[in-house]
Amino acid sequence: MFRINENYLKLQGSYLFSTIASKVAAYSAANPQKDILRLGIGDVTLPLAPAVINAMKEAVEEMAHPETFRGYAPDGGYEFLRSAICEHDYRSRGADIGIDEIFVSDGAKSDSGNIGDIFGVQNRIAVCDPVYPVYLDTNVMGGRTGQADPADGRYEGVIYLPCTEESGFIPQFPSERPDIIYLCFPNNPTGMTIPKSELQKWVDYALENESVIIYDAAYEAYIREDGIAHTIYECEGAQKCAIELRSFSKNAGFTGTRLGFTVVPKQLMCGEVSLNDLWARRQSTKFNGAPYIVQRAGEAVYSEEGRRQTREQVDYYMRNAACILDGLKAAGYTVYGGVNAPYIWLKTPGQMTSWEFFDHLLERAAVVGTPGSGFGPAGEHFFRLTAFGSYENTKAAVERICRL
Ligand code: PLP
Repeated sequence: MFRINENYLKLQGSYLFSTIASKVAAYSAANPQKDILRLGIGDVTLPLAPAVINAMKEAVEEMAHPETFRGYAPDGGYEFLRSAICEHDYRSRGADIGIDEIFVSDGAKSDSGNIGDIFGVQNRIAVCDPVYPVYLDTNVMGGRTGQADPADGRYEGVIYLPCTEESGFIPQFPSERPDIIYLCFPNNPTGMTIPKSELQKWVDYALENESVIIYDAAYEAYIREDGIAHTIYECEGAQKCAIELRSFSKNAGFTGTRLGFTVVPKQLMCGEVSLNDLWARRQSTKFNGAPYIVQRAGEAVYSEEGRRQTREQVDYYMRNAACILDGLKAAGYTVYGGVNAPYIWLKTPGQMTSWEFFDHLLERAAVVGTPGSGFGPAGEHFFRLTAFGSYENTKAAVERICRL
């Protein structure tokens, strides 16, 4: 009989969002008159910027005529988009990344999972705790972990890097040496960032230990403070040890449009083997490119108008973040994040567990957030609120929480 990939059986159920949905549905059925405010979603709500929509319309029109119709996109993406990425995301920040080091894709979620294809099953991975669950689950699927411990859900063989209040939510170097290190800054779920000087230490550590860093910079557009790297390639030596994942989802509202890219520098080698070559081979075999219309939309994000309009959208969400942060601080809550990221990481009051606080907020204020423990054991006693709603709803939700 055929065999399944038994690694899938090690996966723990993804109860977080389904449990939230069922609790909210039950509350709503019992309290039909209540207006529930949702600060739990990680999805954007503003429509695409006009510059993006215009570019898409033009591209649709091109597809309607034989002279301008496009079929399969070139491997790695159209040059017009890759050169805009090189210029605006890298050269402008002093990072010399070439067009052939950029691989356009349908988003950072798929790339963060697919990147495992080019790494051996024997590699030991290190992930932050709490963590965006995709890094961990895709490594479970790929056979790079043992079984999960039923007590705390931690997988055997994985090196966890706790990001705690005491360490400013910055991971500390582990005592065991990892081969692959996943880092994400600005961070989901904590909303915290790492100073460039601290990130440089991780780059130095990776170079010294012959590890590779997979750096997820999906929230780069939310960085407001100086001294924080917008790309890991601002750090010296990073091109020799890091792959960077980027997304158009949160900086330009492409969550439903789908576009991202991965940077695999040519200097990144494993002995004699180029990781850029391996990723090019992987992508050309298993991926047929992001749609032309969407790549034109992505190009428009880098136009003068596009940059201004998408910046305004990010500013809108950051105004929400400030509203949550300031409101909750004034009400006596301990809150983190929200300064360089659209996520606020709130310490639950009175030692409540993350789920107790979820119930408390839903039942007493009709506000929905995400329990921190759903992102890993170190997220216990924390709670994630997001800034992606409307300003009016955000303000109303904060007022309700402050009245509790
Ligand atoms: N990386 C992080 C850290 C995220 O939080 C998300 C989405 O929430 C993604 C990647 C997914 O990005 P995309 O929409 O480009 O797949």
